[in-house]
Amino acid sequence: MVTREFIPPRRLLLGPGPSQVHPRVLRAMSAPVIGHLDPAFLAMMNDVQSLLRNTFQTGNRFTIAISGTGSAGMEAAIVNAVEPGETVLVGVNGIFGTRLVEVTERCGGKAIRLEAPWGSAIDPQAVEQVLRRSGPVKAIAMVQAETSTGCWQPLEAIAQLAKQHDALLIVDAVTSLGGIPVDVDAAGIDICYSATQKCLSCPPGLAPFTISERALAAVTRRRTRCQSWYLDMKLVAEYWTEGTRTYHHTAPISMLYALREALRLVEEEGLPARFARHHLNSNALLTGLLELGLPPLAQPGQRLPMLNCVTVPDVIPEAEVRARLLNRYGIEIGGGLGPLKGKVWRIGLMGESSTEAHVLRLLNALEELFIEGGWLTTPGLAVGAASRIYSRANP
Ligand SMILES: *Cc1c(COP(=O)(O)O)cnc(C)c1O
Repeated sequence: MVTREFIPPRRLLLGPGPSQVHPRVLRAMSAPVIGHLDPAFLAMMNDVQSLLRNTFQTGNRFTIAISGTGSAGMEAAIVNAVEPGETVLVGVNGIFGTRLVEVTERCGGKAIRLEAPWGSAIDPQAVEQVLRRSGPVKAIAMVQAETSTGCWQPLEAIAQLAKQHDALLIVDAVTSLGGIPVDVDAAGIDICYSATQKCLSCPPGLAPFTISERALAAVTRRRTRCQSWYLDMKLVAEYWTEGTRTYHHTAPISMLYALREALRLVEEEGLPARFARHHLNSNALLTGLLELGLPPLAQPGQRLPMLNCVTVPDVIPEAEVRARLLNRYGIEIGGGLGPLKGKVWRIGLMGESSTEAHVLRLLNALEELFIEGGWLTTPGLAVGAASRIYSRANP
């Protein structure tokens, strides 16, 4: 029998997610559970929807939180938009683009993979060439923040191409939402999904999701039934729409409390200030890491501030150092995925994790470990370089 309460160790979460959770969010989760059709709960859901619209920067009526993690959002986007036999152009420059291809094929769609080297963005001109050569394309799917490489995908030009070719633009904003502008309406995104545990700093469990009127019309016009019952947005809409409110599946009550509080924190800070904070902390971290000989993987101008992916030199046993960071300093960072396994570190500065104190604590721990390993001789270089960035920013 498991007799004792589980007490998690103290950790500083600087990996690819989950990120640090604010005490206010944890407190919200411990509130009493009420019914998912209780009028008080339905009113709370309206708050969640309006806060989500502000965070996505959209007026989309259909803006909800899907029950499930970011992957459920990805699956929902594809299974609702794509019918068997339809084509989706997918930008593939990391793990999550690969997954979009997989989900498309599993629901009977045809995926055109448009590849770019891992760490580089997809070129809009390449998108245009594919669109010109291919037959009708139902949707273009892009990962705005590729968490496996730290690459920031610009969307403006691709959104215009989507409009010109009458294709829906599906955007994975799992890691970007709350850390860099997603700007659904201004960018011309038709379907956008995210997750709670990255820059929104809420525990994992919900996928913020929004659909434009244009995409909603396409979903409503489907000739075939959505392949998924659980993620069929036509059915889920009946619970999330005022006036109908019929049972589809039980809402994850406590998670929705948590998301509401996390979004309130986003609103209190304000998106511009939040984006600036992510930018500054990333800048300080990368400057410090460069002193340790760890350069960023993504091209200049395409680097994500919330996911700092840096190349680790061969002489450094990266997995061992990561294990020591966790065991001795309580700091979690991420290793590489797929072809980048053993070659990079993925350091997340997402939401509550993105602070000056955390950056300096990590750099200090790395300096100690690098000196111990014999890969660094002078202490203070990385911390000093990062401190100078902060001094300049806060004179
Ligand atoms: C984390 C992540 C996902 C998957 O989200 P889960 O919450 O792990 O299901 C999808 N896309 C991107 C870009 C991610 O970073």
